[in-house]
Amino acid sequence: MGKAYQTRLVEWFLKEQRVLPWRDNPSPYRVWVSEIMLQQTQVKTVLPYFERFMGRFPTVEKLAKAKSEAVLSAWAGLGYYSRARNLHQAAKQIVKMGFPETLEGWLELPGVGRYTAGAVLSIAYEKPTAILDGNVERVLSRLLTLSRGDSDSEYRTRLWNESQKALDAALASKKSSKVRPSDFNQALMELGAMICSPKKPACSICPVRKDCSAFSKGRVQDFPAPKKKKVWKEVREEKFGIVNGDGKILMSLSGDGARWRKGLWDLPSESELSGVSLGRLEPWFVNEVKYVVTQHRVKRKIRWMKISKSVDLGGTPLRWVLPGPDQTLPLGSPAKKSMNQLIARSA
Ligand code: SF4
Repeated sequence: MGKAYQTRLVEWFLKEQRVLPWRDNPSPYRVWVSEIMLQQTQVKTVLPYFERFMGRFPTVEKLAKAKSEAVLSAWAGLGYYSRARNLHQAAKQIVKMGFPETLEGWLELPGVGRYTAGAVLSIAYEKPTAILDGNVERVLSRLLTLSRGDSDSEYRTRLWNESQKALDAALASKKSSKVRPSDFNQALMELGAMICSPKKPACSICPVRKDCSAFSKGRVQDFPAPKKKKVWKEVREEKFGIVNGDGKILMSLSGDGARWRKGLWDLPSESELSGVSLGRLEPWFVNEVKYVVTQHRVKRKIRWMKISKSVDLGGTPLRWVLPGPDQTLPLGSPAKKSMNQLIARSA
């Protein structure tokens, strides 16, 4: 029997991998920062930013202590600034609790999803955790001719399972020297980035061509199947941002009627305020927050108002909350976005 494709893939990676600064000394901090920068951004764009960022914030402690303006200015030009804010926020949590060494621990940090958690754990800690980004999806869907089917979430689940199965098989391989999770996961990503490209994959020099189902069937361009176009429904809503003299915001617990937010705290709507005696409200400003949820594109209008005193809310599903990193109520992303806008305005 020949070598498993996983072994050939890793051998190819060890010979052909690009020299990238985060591969040199892959500490949890460096891998994590690089993975956050690489979300939605190409490697060649990230390179100078990564070096500069590491120069300014060489440790997680330095990053946690930095002023948010300093972090945002080091990020300026990379876009998607919520990544920088989350990174800064997560650094503060890490300094208090240490770098997590489990998937659950990483997933609790702001801005970290399953892909980033899997990448840091496998690359920095050599844990056998799978990864799935656009490159890996393309490679696996072609290798295994995985079609999308009717359900996008089932397709994603299958891809995650296949990624884990491929990693487990690589680690179980006895054909060559022991394969490390960091090498296998990076090899999958590298293959997607360098050989198995979206439009013109270089199948003739691909190390796993023999095992590629799409290649052997002459159907490479059919995979990955294009995403089904979403049919968006436009929705408008109105919320009230009421801020008291202590800088606290009035929040309301969303009940059964709130399809997407049940059990989460959010700014109250007019109906949630009815019957609550708040006294005199002074109009402050009006702004708009946009967010998407399932098939809905929502435009949220927020009427911000000030109230000089802190009204006793006993017996109502309402609470005064100080916005910022220390608040611990479970908030949905629209509520976080709304709060962040207030914080940014008050900064
Ligand atoms: Fe991708 Fe071609 Fe390699 Fe298959 S043979 S994995 S399609 S580059």
